[in-house]
Amino acid sequence: MNFHVITLFPEVCKAYTDASVLGRAQKTDKGKGSKVRGKKISVQYYNPRDFSKNKHNKVDERPYGGGPGMVMQAEPILRAWEKAVGRKTKAKSRIKTLIMSPRGKVFTQKLAKEYAKKYDHLVLISGRYEGIDARVKKILKAEEVSVGDYVLTGGELPALTIVDAVARNIPGVLGTHESLEDKRAASGEMYTRPEVLEYKGKKNRVPIVLVNGNHADIENWRKSQSK
Ligand code: SAH
Repeated sequence: MNFHVITLFPEVCKAYTDASVLGRAQKTDKGKGSKVRGKKISVQYYNPRDFSKNKHNKVDERPYGGGPGMVMQAEPILRAWEKAVGRKTKAKSRIKTLIMSPRGKVFTQKLAKEYAKKYDHLVLISGRYEGIDARVKKILKAEEVSVGDYVLTGGELPALTIVDAVARNIPGVLGTHESLEDKRAASGEMYTRPEVLEYKGKKNRVPIVLVNGNHADIENWRKSQSK
């Protein structure tokens, strides 16, 4: 899966996607037994400013019809999109373009799985200010997605949320340690050492079932816990 993130703040996003599981998934690694595992994902960033023809690299303008704030102009975003996937006309059916928007359809685990399966290229467009010129959506036949019923200052966290949730549904992205969780949407309560945690004079114990060593009981308990 190739993720293409269009954002005015690529360096902020890159720090996140280069860390931990997502960072590892972008590298080839030599696994045990000298088996070389390929890259599972790529994450590329495109800054609309680099595609602005304005001499100050301006990418926003006042809204038509008046009102407060600024709107992101279509052209720098369209050029960034062309750079990302414009040439891949043959693979069109495997490309999906998403615009981050609080008015969009709410992103879910079901969509994360669907995108992981159906597409080779996900283009995620992050807005700032009062949003993005609406013509971008029409021209790119993009879909607006929201990460929840609240308004953020920018589309970076939503884009990262989607990259993260989709990536972990791509085979091989989660290591063997994490793969168990892959089967469930979310696991239940988790505990680790110490078995008895003393806090402000009170003893907080790990559920007894988890330390009894009965694997069938543990499995049942976990099933009852997970969503
Ligand atoms: N008045 C604007 C607010 C824009 S918020 C409006 O009603 O659309 C600025 C940018 O943050 C948006 O363009 C979008 O990319 C992003 N954003 C904010 N909240 C979001 C959410 N819940 N889900 C996805 N993107 C969001």
